[in-house]
Amino acid sequence: MSKVKTAFFCQNCGYESVKWLGQCPSCARWNSFVEEIIQKQDAKTNGWKNYDTNKRINKTVALNEITSSEENRLITPDIELNRVLGGGIVAGSIVLIAGEPGIGKSTLFLQNGLALKDIIVLYVSGEESEQQIKMRAERLNTDPLIGQGENFYLLTETSTQVIFQEIKKLKPGLVIVDSIQTLQTPFIDSSPGSISQIKESAAEFQRFAKDTNTPVFLIGHITKDGTIAGPKILEHMVDTVLQFEGDRHYAYRILRTLKNRFGSTAELGIYEMTDTGMKGVANPSEILIAQKEDHLSGIAIAATIEGIRPLLIEVQALVTQSVYGTPQRTVTGFDLRRLQLLLAVLEKRGGFHFGIKDVFLNIAGGIKVEDPSTDLAVLCALLSSYEDSPMQQHICFAGEVGLSGEIRAVNRIEQRIAEAEKLGFEKIIVSKYNLPAGRQGQKGLARQKFNIEVVTMGRVDEVYKYLF
Ligand SMILES: [Zn+2]
Repeated sequence: MSKVKTAFFCQNCGYESVKWLGQCPSCARWNSFVEEIIQKQDAKTNGWKNYDTNKRINKTVALNEITSSEENRLITPDIELNRVLGGGIVAGSIVLIAGEPGIGKSTLFLQNGLALKDIIVLYVSGEESEQQIKMRAERLNTDPLIGQGENFYLLTETSTQVIFQEIKKLKPGLVIVDSIQTLQTPFIDSSPGSISQIKESAAEFQRFAKDTNTPVFLIGHITKDGTIAGPKILEHMVDTVLQFEGDRHYAYRILRTLKNRFGSTAELGIYEMTDTGMKGVANPSEILIAQKEDHLSGIAIAATIEGIRPLLIEVQALVTQSVYGTPQRTVTGFDLRRLQLLLAVLEKRGGFHFGIKDVFLNIAGGIKVEDPSTDLAVLCALLSSYEDSPMQQHICFAGEVGLSGEIRAVNRIEQRIAEAEKLGFEKIIVSKYNLPAGRQGQKGLARQKFNIEVVTMGRVDEVYKYLF
């Protein structure tokens, strides 16, 4: 009999310590350590074992004797999911899908499980009852792509031992776990959702995936600031990390690849949430700027690249006289510090008095943009609202704004221009440093003929004079 073994875990980042610490040395958060019992009954036999007899035995192998498993991918009917996974589900891979509660992770993976009609899919839910999932599935199967669930099995269970017993009987081709925070392994004494439980449960599924070559999808919840420990500590344990994001009040969702051992991390899937499930969006720009015919002040279109996909998005700004002493700055879908920086540039380099104004900025469709080329459109939307003067129609922008008010070159400029052209824009304003071709390396604009007028500018005051 060994005595009870415990350890302290940072509930923010998962840092493990033998004693309690006031401040976490890893993430610097205070009072984040909680003691958890980590006593294992028998480390060697716990969790996943003896699934079948042809368990892989590790021995040294010459590199040229290893057959590439590139073709061993399961192609799903969901084009967006295939895209973010790098071309389908890899056999034996373990994929973490992180996202805020309630934005549709369960819906997306329930519908994908139902759509894979040719393999046995096991959907393990610790979140909802069988009836709730059945009702959700009934809403989804009005879609012809989604099957009636002949090969789709449900298990509402949280104990990993019971789950593995069922897996041994069923021998599924894909396992979906919703969610990792609800799982509990009997070999660790702490409560479900604690760091040590999440880690150990995920490790058991990882061993299962590798031993049996069965792909596993683990769904994990994160909070608004994206810092809650669970999924974060799993990132290094899994093969692929997908982040499902979007504003729950809007219809659009982005599935982003954060890590992928089997493909690029520059991939992005876009979905629209409908009452019959998530629908992949093939031409996102057309939807995101649907109201471009309205002639209102404070609206500018940015030609961005999200992942490797060009995406035209609408930036909306509202600048009003500040009523209270401290002017407000409110953003949705854009970085607040980036907005403050752009306002400071306008104040200092352009002489605009934003210091006495309330500023609201919104990226239409609830999409969150990270591409710095959005700067120029944000700045123009701010100016348009400040002047209360609508922008010329059919114009869009792609440029990063520097601290001295210069417009900086952005990458993949041809792709942006081509997307703007395709959507019927007549003009695009880009940095003059994107010209001429060759001088600026990959950011140079090829001397290619576009049917759209490409206006190049070097400074924000030039843009102001040009527009207003
Ligand atoms: Zn920490």
